[in-house]
Amino acid sequence: MNNLLIVEDNKTNADVLSRRLGVRGYRTTVAENGQIGVDLALTLKPDLILMDIGMPELDGIEATRALKANPLTQNIPIIAVTASAFDSDRLAALEAGCDEFETKPVDLDSLIAKIKALLEPNASPSPAS
Ligand code: MN
Repeated sequence: MNNLLIVEDNKTNADVLSRRLGVRGYRTTVAENGQIGVDLALTLKPDLILMDIGMPELDGIEATRALKANPLTQNIPIIAVTASAFDSDRLAALEAGCDEFETKPVDLDSLIAKIKALLEPNASPSPAS
């Protein structure tokens, strides 16, 4: 089972996303701001991080920079999840080191396709026998 770290300051958003991903077979942990997210990433070593951008303490851009600058966490894939659909915000997230970008409200199938692509980059759609 894959462990996902959800870094999201809005409790309702975090709970809903956590529950929906749980139903789809993912184990999730929620961090309520960027600083807690960075700290939990170090201790939990999640398989992948879903990163809100607008957050107190440390925003998603700063948290991503910190995670990607640390050898202990730099290989954990990060998907930015934000309500902003502006190209400039998408670019800022990718420049900070996010591996992918998903806009809110989250389309669960779209998000899971991105999670799978990052966790199983060499997976074939139809497994070889
Ligand atoms: Mn937020």
